[in-house]
Amino acid sequence: MGEKEDVSCEVCKEKPVKVEVRQGLSDYWLKLLPLLKQQNIQSYCQLCLHDKVKYAITEYEFKYFEGKIKNHANDFASNTGQLVEGIDYYQEGRFFVFTSWYHLKRGYCCGSGCRHCPYTKKKNNT
Ligand SMILES: [Zn+2]
Repeated sequence: MGEKEDVSCEVCKEKPVKVEVRQGLSDYWLKLLPLLKQQNIQSYCQLCLHDKVKYAITEYEFKYFEGKIKNHANDFASNTGQLVEGIDYYQEGRFFVFTSWYHLKRGYCCGSGCRHCPYTKKKNNT
């Protein structure tokens, strides 16, 4: 019985962690594990997981824009093409706005003048 019940999130101790999450994360989240430097995210609820990922991405982008690291965000990109709202994009009315993280994972500038293009902020982009 216990295995089938939702358990509470380790972080907020409130919201449930879905059984599917505990049994196995999708490739999208597995690829992010090295960025999070943490392996126990299977005990996080969806909200805390998103927070954790966003924080790690902010840290990564900060280092990148400071020129401390070369962009290797593609290492954290899933081959499944899954995109997550709030991490890869957000909606503004009927438009989808891609985040700088999405562009960093793709690895190059598409030249369409995207609002969050990370490659125009830095001169020697890689
Ligand atoms: Zn939580």
